[in-house]
Amino acid sequence: MLDANSNMPGEIYCRKCGYDLRGQAAAHRCPECGREFDPADFTTFFAQPPDGARWRWTKRILLGVLVLLVTIVLCFWNIIRWLADHNYIEAP
Ligand SMILES: [Zn+2]
Repeated sequence: MLDANSNMPGEIYCRKCGYDLRGQAAAHRCPECGREFDPADFTTFFAQPPDGARWRWTKRILLGVLVLLVTIVLCFWNIIRWLADHNYIEAP
């Protein structure tokens, strides 16, 4: 299916890594793995995500969110310890 605002297909995924290439038409290159594609040539990309691609990307995003949350918790913990060490608050 073609997008109403351009000649790009509605969905477009890298044939090598499954990256969602929507919005990458100007570059003609996957930003994740560097594989070239031509939005006008249906043989250079997938119109549907390859098997397992969505789950792989979901896992990567969840891992990123987990790392971010752990970082935030550690920052708050260090702030609380610093405040306690300098007697601004009672030690937890
Ligand atoms: Zn790729």
